[in-house]
Order: sequence, then C-alpha cells, then structure tokens
Amino acid sequence: MAHPPIDLHTHSSVSDGTETPAALIASAARAGLGTVALTDHDTTAGWAEARASVAGTGMTLVPGMELSTRLGLNSVHMLGYLFDPTDSALVAETARLRDGRLHRAERIVARIGADYDIVWDDVLAQASDGATLGRPHIADALVAKGFAADRSAAFAGILHWRSGYYEPHEAPSPLEGIRLIREAGGVPVIAHPATRGREPNVSVESFARLVDAGLLGVEIAHRENTEAGRQRLRELADRYDLIVTGSSDYHGDGKPNRLGENTTDPRQLDRIVAAATGSEPIQG
Ligand code: AMP
Ligand code: ZN
Ligand code: FE
Ligand code: FE
Repeated sequence: MAHPPIDLHTHSSVSDGTETPAALIASAARAGLGTVALTDHDTTAGWAEARASVAGTGMTLVPGMELSTRLGLNSVHMLGYLFDPTDSALVAETARLRDGRLHRAERIVARIGADYDIVWDDVLAQASDGATLGRPHIADALVAKGFAADRSAAFAGILHWRSGYYEPHEAPSPLEGIRLIREAGGVPVIAHPATRGREPNVSVESFARLVDAGLLGVEIAHRENTEAGRQRLRELADRYDLIVTGSSDYHGDGKPNRLGENTTDPRQLDRIVAAATGSEPIQG
C-alpha cells in the first residue's frame, strides 16, 4: 500500500511563507500529506501553533528549521530536525541571525530606495510581527508598489544578487551550523545543495568536511537541484551513508513549489527520528 506522503521542508509566515503555521497545516491536510515538517528560516516561533493545529488531523508534524549558513558569498541552507528548541547556543545564534537579516534588509531597501519609490515601512507592512526578514518581504513590497509582477520576477530582477542592490547577511559557516544543530540534539540535513551553479560544492572533499562535522543527511529530491547534481549527491549519500530526503520547500503563494511535489521515503524519516535526541515528532 502506498504510504501517506512525507514532505520535510516548508515555510510559514513566521519566516517567508505566505500562510500562517495553522493555515499551512490545513493546506498540508488538504494536500493529503501524512507527515509535514515546518522549517522556517532561523526561527522556531511557528512550532507551537503548528503543534496545536496538527491535533486531530491524523498527520505527523516534524518540528524543524532551515538554518542560514554562509560559505564565502554562497548562502548554504542547513535543515535541522527535532532539535531542542531551548538549546541556548542555538537560540542565541538564531537571534543573532534574525537581527543581522533585519539590518541587511534595511540596507538593501535603502539602496533600492535611491532608484525606486520604496521605504522600509513598505517592507514591514509585508511581514508578520517578528518574522525572519528576507528578500521575499522586499519582493512583496516591490510587487505591492507595482515594480515587479510577483516574487519570482522581483528575484530575477531588482533582488538578484547581480543587481547591484544585493548584499549577503552574516551567518555561521556550514560546519558551525551543523555542530550547533547536533549539539542541540537535532539532525542536520543539507538543503538543496546542487542548485544551478553550485555543483562545485557537491564534491567529495566538501562533503567529507561536512560529514566530519556531523552532517547526517542530504536533500536530493528538490526542484532546484540539477539532474547532474542529484546523481553526484546520490553517490555521496552512498559513500557516507547519509539520510536522503526529498521535499517541496513550500512557501505558500510566494513560490511555485507545491506541497508534496517531492517526498521522503518513510525509512529515511525513521532514520531522522532515530538519530534525534532534542525533540520528538508530534502525532496529530
Ligand atoms: P534571502 O535569504 O533573504 O537572501 O532570500 C532568499 C530566500 O528567498 C530563499 O530562502 C528562498 O527560498 C526565498 N524565496 C521565496 N520566494 C522566492 C522566489 N519566488 N524566488 C526566489 N526565492 C524565493
Ligand atoms: Zn525561504
Ligand atoms: Fe533554502
Ligand atoms: Fe526553504
């Protein structure tokens, strides 16, 4: 019998998704998911609402996060599952990250504001209180002002890293990110590592270092991983016996990604749950 689909990468309005955690859980139920992970950028602020919302749905919630890390100019996203959300090092680092993202977004908007009629309040109007701010909220403000047709168009134009307005935000290295998640009892899974242009990161040498630091898994089935990159990732996953996941990276209406468009094998989810010591899945 086919098992209910498992989608381990989604965003709510607590970061840059367009649905509240409650609405996201309702969407996941409508999409027929059996298990959904909430993985907002650099925050666990949506866990409580998601946990309450999953009750009575029959779905399983896997609490998680997508931790921002950086290697030079490249941003590297590290999914963390089932860690202790009160771990003091992780709490401090994510607070620092959110603060750095806020000031970076203000600087980007100031630069855009020199050429377009847009101010910081326009961006704040697009984010829920305390949300992890990022380019998606600037994109929404640009759309509201009529300077872009939708988020994707804004990312392809004014918000592109080559546009002249871009700057990266401060973030720990991928190795530090992995260690933080492990020390909080969580399971680090590197997110979409083989997006176009990033294939050099998918090397034996770079993965050896990540695995040495405690990396446990790799997200292979993701719409932005290239075909050639996925092949390399499957080889690396075999070599290092890594957990393999597939997920949607759903952002509500903010991205074309649909819930359940990529899924994870239940045996791989079992490995995540077995490796975690920080928290447990919530059976709704
Ligand atoms: P930032 O982290 O602020 O540099 O912004 C990048 C984030 O924007 C990534 O996490 C993407 O998932 C997210 N994002 C949301 N919607 C889009 C979109 N339509 N196109 C590209 N990136 C998007
Ligand atoms: Zn995002
Ligand atoms: Fe990501
Ligand atoms: Fe994501």
